[in-house]
This record gives sequence, C-alpha cells and structure tokens, in this order.
Amino acid sequence: MNTSTSSCVGRFAPSPSGDLHFGSLIAALGSYLSARAQQGRWLVRIEDIDPPREVAGAATRILTQLEQYGLEWDGEVLWQSQRHDAYREALDWLQQHRQSYFCTCPRSRIHQLGGFYDGHCRALHLPADNAALRLRQHAPVFGFDDRLRGYLAADTQLAQEDFIIHRRDGLFAYNLAVVVDDHHQGVTEIVRGADLIEPTVRQIALYRQFGWSVPDYLHLPLAINPDGNKLSKQNHAPALPAGDARPLLVQALRFLGQPILEGWQDASLTALLQHAVEQWSIHLIPQQNALIPDEATSPFLNGSQQAMISR
Ligand code: GLU
Ligand code: ZN
Repeated sequence: MNTSTSSCVGRFAPSPSGDLHFGSLIAALGSYLSARAQQGRWLVRIEDIDPPREVAGAATRILTQLEQYGLEWDGEVLWQSQRHDAYREALDWLQQHRQSYFCTCPRSRIHQLGGFYDGHCRALHLPADNAALRLRQHAPVFGFDDRLRGYLAADTQLAQEDFIIHRRDGLFAYNLAVVVDDHHQGVTEIVRGADLIEPTVRQIALYRQFGWSVPDYLHLPLAINPDGNKLSKQNHAPALPAGDARPLLVQALRFLGQPILEGWQDASLTALLQHAVEQWSIHLIPQQNALIPDEATSPFLNGSQQAMISR
C-alpha cells in the first residue's frame, strides 16, 4: 500500500542476527513514524550480507514481528544477499576512478598503529589477491548535522581513515552496502540508533565520492541494560513478545518521548499508531540513552524464571 504524497523516503534496515527486541523496535518505530508523519514512504531492507552472523529464520521472524506490531512497509523488501551485482558494480566504479586501492596489511599492523589505518598501501598498486579494498578518501567528512542532535563532530582519525569497502574474506563491507542500497532505494532520511553515529561520516564520504545526494540523519537514543550496555542480540535482549503488540508499542513511544493515545487499552493497534503518526514530534525525543523499561525486559517470563536466567 502506498498512499504517499511526499518525496520523503525512510527505511528500517535490520541485520538478521536475531529477532527484534525492544532496542530494534525503537529504531523501527522511530523511522516509521518519522516517514509517515511526512506522508512519506517507509521501506524495509534485510541486511543479510554477513552470513556467519546470521541466525537461521531470523529474517522471516523480523518481518512477521513488524507486521504484528502494525509497522506496514511499502513495496517489496530488499534483501542485501540479492544485491551483490550492484555492490560489485559500485566497487568497479570506484576502482576505475582511482578511488580505492588494495591493501594487504595484517590486522596486527593496524593494531600497532593505534587502531586507525595510515594509508600504507595507497601508492603500492597491489593486486587483488588476498587483499582488502579500501576507499581512497579524497575529501574526508569531519562531522554532520543530525536532526535531533545538531552538528556532531567525528573523531578526526576515524573521519580520515581509508576504510575498508570490501573485506579480504570476500564480504562486502557494511558501509558500502548501506550507501549503495539507500541510494538505490531513494532513501531521503535515515532514522536509526545512536550506535550508528560513528560510521555516518564515512557513509557521507562515500555518497560524495559517488557524486550522490546525501540523506538526512537522525540518531535515536538507545535502550540500555542496567549494566550500561546497549540492548543487542549479542547480549541476549529478549525478543519482542508475541500476542498483543500495544503494551510494548506504548513503552516504545514513551521511550521516544511521544504522547500516548488516551484510553489506548480500549483502542486498536491501528488507532494507537495513527495517533502516534499525527502527534510525532522530533523535539520531544530525548537525546540521552535510557534504561530499558521493566515491562520490556523479559515479557515472557515471570520473576523467578528471570532470576534463574540471570544467574
Ligand atoms: N543493519 C544495521 C543494524 O542492524 C543497521 C543499518 C543502518 O540502519 O544503517 O545494526
Ligand atoms: Zn595496507
């Protein structure tokens, strides 16, 4: 269904490394509400470019969870595993325009340098064998305007580094795939978690080197555990519960500082979301990360089961 009347295009781009949890719901909901509040389109892309990190069946479950939470997307889902030709073409273009080079430096060397690469292989004209491909940065980007946070300056070493766009093990790098796909899908605004602030300057540098227009960015606060770590599939954040989606949607809206439909307990999921679209206001979103609400920690489990698991 596309009732879009504006040129705004937003997206949610989960990696299928596990089910959706409260943290990913924040990113899905925030990007959805922002696009819909502007009568824009909202797309879903499954970022399955890293097979070793994939969990079998997670992609399908993510899509089912989005439907269950009433987050309907426009058009077809784009799967990064189907986009290898496009990534290859983008890499070829960079190679032809001398905007990339092969690098065989071992990880240990970069570690010795303090973590950032020094451009050692820039002028060596190494062959492709057993090498990573790096972007030859022409015009590094040192910061960007975030729609929630204002100007965000990047670490200058990070900003200037000739980062990897194709890995030595043959995998396409996240920064390459995300930029090629967001451009391909006509995405105009990227609303995602604050954990992705760091790579943003690199992504903007890539847009510029391709000569593509750069989307707007808005980085949402993260849901964190009591130990201060972000909720993630790696630290076993519980999957969103099946069944009634409204209670956790309300928690997610609260997390994003948004007003809640009064009497939502008696309202439909559609009405709850519609109200949220109408009321969506960026200015209400907190910038600080915040603790995951209790209701969203382990919705399936009762107290004693939770205690057993955390032991
Ligand atoms: N696939 C990335 C993740 O799940 C998100 C990419 C993005 O939003 O730019 O963390
Ligand atoms: Zn090198």
